[in-house]
Amino acid sequence: MKILSTAKMLCLCCMEEHAVQTVTVREHSIFKSVPVEYTAEYFYCDQADETYADEQQISLNDIAMKNAYREKMGLLTSSQIAAIRAKYGISQSDLCLLLGWGGKTITRYESHQVQDIAHDTILRKLDSDPEWFLQLLNTGKTSFSAASYAKYTETGTALFEQDHDLYLKSAIMSKYARFLHNPGVTGGKVLSLDVVVDMIRYYANSSMVTGLFRVKLMKMLWYADALSYKRHGHAISGLVYRALLMGAVPIAYESIVDLSTIRCEEIEMGDGTGYKFLPTEDKEYPHLTQEDKEILDTVIQRFGKVSKSAIVETMHQEDAYIETAPQDVIQFKYAQTLSLS
Ligand SMILES: [Zn+2]
Repeated sequence: MKILSTAKMLCLCCMEEHAVQTVTVREHSIFKSVPVEYTAEYFYCDQADETYADEQQISLNDIAMKNAYREKMGLLTSSQIAAIRAKYGISQSDLCLLLGWGGKTITRYESHQVQDIAHDTILRKLDSDPEWFLQLLNTGKTSFSAASYAKYTETGTALFEQDHDLYLKSAIMSKYARFLHNPGVTGGKVLSLDVVVDMIRYYANSSMVTGLFRVKLMKMLWYADALSYKRHGHAISGLVYRALLMGAVPIAYESIVDLSTIRCEEIEMGDGTGYKFLPTEDKEYPHLTQEDKEILDTVIQRFGKVSKSAIVETMHQEDAYIETAPQDVIQFKYAQTLSLS
């Protein structure tokens, strides 16, 4: 028995007013044929040497016992279920609607009723799969008020994007693993995707940059890293570039431009689809240093208003491109003779 606190009050055990202790006790009991151990809270009357519980304690002790059972059986606890629901910002009754369950099911699961395994599996899937949440939401669209539907969609989409970004980031980092200890091609920087995103947004948000499509962006990223290497002896981002037909292209660029913090718009062009990079609401670049920004400004001054074919043409005349075999990774040592300074 552990004493939590003491307060003078009417003792419901002996029906006299005296100092009553609030105590915790380790309890052992059997629930659904399973022995469980949990901590229960009681009042203690030292005059009668007896513990007793009020209504609230009885309720909380019952939940504590059932949570001990849930943990032992590998089921979600009531607070874990509440946390999943809170993550999606959805009400208890709307979550029941979403899952096609009886209207009070979630309310019961978040308190005294232990969920069955099938429902537990569904709640776990919901926790780990915001895409599924969005699908269910769309299927049941007419069941919700327009405002709730919009709110849930927004929350679900944000969670889905976070998940997607985590997946993309680990896919990108795995493609860079082999270059980790090769400063000649990383420019002496360990790849930071936060820095890359800030660089792309810095360009896309500049009024001095026009027609920022993929090919132009890739070249402008390379010029920034190469110029930084030339000026300061290290790249900005840690990106590794290959020499492709139209010049330098970072490894895993398809995944990089797919990150949700970058805004990109598909535009139908005569010869296929173009991807144009758009300004973002966020105009802060916490991952860029002043030195980095000066480099980016120099690149913007030189190439911001230049056409895609002109920047490709310029890249083709750089030693970095001429000296690198097609498809090979570009060495930063060639930055010494870069046309920018
Ligand atoms: Zn008493």
